[in-house]
Amino acid sequence: MSNQFGIQRRQSVQVMIGGIAVGGDAPIRVQSMTNTDTADIDSTVTQCAELARAGSELVRITVNNESAAEAVPRIRDRLAAMGTPVPLIGDFHFNGHRLLADYPACAEALAKYRINPGNVGRGEKRDTQFATMIEIACRYDRPVRIGVNWGSLDPELIARMMDDNARAEHPKLAEEVMREAMVESAVGSAVRAEELGLGRDHIILSCKMSGVQDLIAVYRMLAARTDHALHLGLTEAGMGSKGIVASTAALAVILQEGISDTIRVSLTPAPGESRTREVVVAQEILQTMGMRSFAPMVTACPGCGRTTSTLFQELAEDIQGYLRDQMPVWRETYPGVETLQVAVMGCVVNGPGESKHANIGISLPGTGEQPSAPVYIDGEKATTLKGANISEQFKAMVNNYISERFSAQ
Ligand code: SF4
Repeated sequence: MSNQFGIQRRQSVQVMIGGIAVGGDAPIRVQSMTNTDTADIDSTVTQCAELARAGSELVRITVNNESAAEAVPRIRDRLAAMGTPVPLIGDFHFNGHRLLADYPACAEALAKYRINPGNVGRGEKRDTQFATMIEIACRYDRPVRIGVNWGSLDPELIARMMDDNARAEHPKLAEEVMREAMVESAVGSAVRAEELGLGRDHIILSCKMSGVQDLIAVYRMLAARTDHALHLGLTEAGMGSKGIVASTAALAVILQEGISDTIRVSLTPAPGESRTREVVVAQEILQTMGMRSFAPMVTACPGCGRTTSTLFQELAEDIQGYLRDQMPVWRETYPGVETLQVAVMGCVVNGPGESKHANIGISLPGTGEQPSAPVYIDGEKATTLKGANISEQFKAMVNNYISERFSAQ
């Protein structure tokens, strides 16, 4: 069935991850990954809780050695005790078969295992180590993500496909073969996992690449070849605006085609920057595309020569930050508040019009205009604010609007 924008979601097999449904008719889920040393339980618990409070519905942690595997059940328990019991996904490379076998409490505490088919082992070892991980997933009734990454694509597979291509009558470009190898690695591994007894409803696939056009091409191929639930993300997106723009450009095209059941935005945080940025960006991609709502959105004009004070910039920033900061509590007390639209505009040129389209909007005085600010509520002019503390008065009106409109019945 299409949504109100005519976008038809691709039908996928639904997977349950620690009580969270992914795929099928479930909403597109937002997930994230920690960058703490998993063995450092305090730091990992703190960051998992921050990510969960920001709205990450699943959190992935690296499980790279024995100390990390030992820490996992304690991290799970501490999060539950803090009231943020987010499902944890274990990210395994090279030694996952051994860690999962040697640390059953870790295997049990994780809600899902991520397996990278390119980093499971080589030759015969590859098959037995992959089988060990799948058998453990079956034993604990845990889903797996078969997560192919082009930086660690199975070298034996790519060599074989390149050789076959070289012998073909009409050889394809190397990039095309690389993309096909990504999809083949994911789909072929899923077939093997099913042969080993893992149900289709326990398998999620991903093929992450760092090039926007590569990612779009590969997800179109994946969607055409399989009905497994898909995890989508541009890998190694980078820092700052480049990382956000590249991720948004790639994800928006793929999401618009109805492909994807869960997304992660892989941003490199600036030193000292909160890891929650990747959650906010993922939510904003889905929300601005009209696919889900997570937090009230503020519409603000860019400002121009008509407004030379910083008042409206400060108010727009203040209101957006305030609304997002309240969400962990408001989700419970004000159901539906995430759909609220607020407008903060710099002058009367577009201010009243944009404000009327929002639930509540303010049009601040531009340079040379009367020092007054009309406020519109649900399309009607409600009042005109005046004086030195317009910002505080407007914030109080937003609070009143929210408590009157969204209080739980
Ligand atoms: S609303 Fe006014 S201040 Fe804002 S960009 Fe338009 S003309 Fe400039």
